[in-house]
Amino acid sequence: MLEQLNQIEGEALAALEGIAGDERLEGWRVATLGRSSPLMQVFDQLGQMPKEERPAVGRRANEVKRALEAALAERADALRQATLLRALQAEQLDVTLPGRPGARGRLHPATQTLRQIYRIFGEMGFQIYRSREVETDEYNFQLLNFPPNHPAREMQDSYYIDTGTDRGENPVLLRTHTSPGQIRAMREYSAANPDNPPPVRIILPGMCYRYEQISARYEIQFTQVEGLAVGEHITFGDLKGTMSDFARRLFGQQVRTRFRASHFPFTEPSAEADFECFLCGGEGCPVCKYTGWLEILGCGMVHPVVLSNGGYDPRRYTGYAFGIGAERLTMLRHRIEDIRYFWGNDLRFLEQF
Ligand SMILES: [Zn+2]
Repeated sequence: MLEQLNQIEGEALAALEGIAGDERLEGWRVATLGRSSPLMQVFDQLGQMPKEERPAVGRRANEVKRALEAALAERADALRQATLLRALQAEQLDVTLPGRPGARGRLHPATQTLRQIYRIFGEMGFQIYRSREVETDEYNFQLLNFPPNHPAREMQDSYYIDTGTDRGENPVLLRTHTSPGQIRAMREYSAANPDNPPPVRIILPGMCYRYEQISARYEIQFTQVEGLAVGEHITFGDLKGTMSDFARRLFGQQVRTRFRASHFPFTEPSAEADFECFLCGGEGCPVCKYTGWLEILGCGMVHPVVLSNGGYDPRRYTGYAFGIGAERLTMLRHRIEDIRYFWGNDLRFLEQF
């Protein structure tokens, strides 16, 4: 009988060695330690054995049972560890793999130009003044020396806003230029000290709206950067110097500028400033239409009526103003041929900048 127990133990342990799965482990347990297993039958037969053999066989049978149970537990544990290890290796993260690049946004080309303009004028001591996009006729036209029915209004067909009330000659509209901000800024500055209003040195950037036939050259919305300097002893020479400095900071130290007489209701005298073509250096090319010059901005000395509407006494104060079209400047710099690309939201266009 003891011989048989040794054999049971030896065979069971050998079988256990080769087991690699949980289900087969359970099969081994039933076959080895289950009710009808040879080992359990040894326990069942103990009663029929001669008395003197019983203790030795019983002790040995219990030893074998404990040994097999311990071996089972050990094997089960080993299998669990192996499964865990496999899972860890399979799901291992390879941190040396290069990551997938995320899609990165970028600034709109008009915004890039705006920021460059801000930086240049910021370096010259100008501050940014943000004014409203919804204006009254009074601020958008009348206070800027465009009386009702003035022919210059013809140039700025407007989007009027239905306010539900008859506002007579002062309807509400989307601003057609950034110039109403001049009045708002001067009034804000002068309100603090009406007898001695402080000097003004600001740029007013922002969106403007005109009722235009949309084409490659005209859009119903565009970005302007207005500039305004008001103080004592400001002359046309200061205007020319500032605009020329701007041209050099934008296009390089060699760039020349020229001023041509023009007309705006809110400046007197008025001028168009042309910058020498940055592409051909004045030789003539398709961008400058073979003139060597690019029309960049309109400017002039602030009209006395506008100064006084802003709270600045024109007998004591003078000033200059200028306006730059940000999209137009961007189109020149990047040779963009159609202004409609700016608001078309076409990534093939936007990703080029
Ligand atoms: Zn050119």
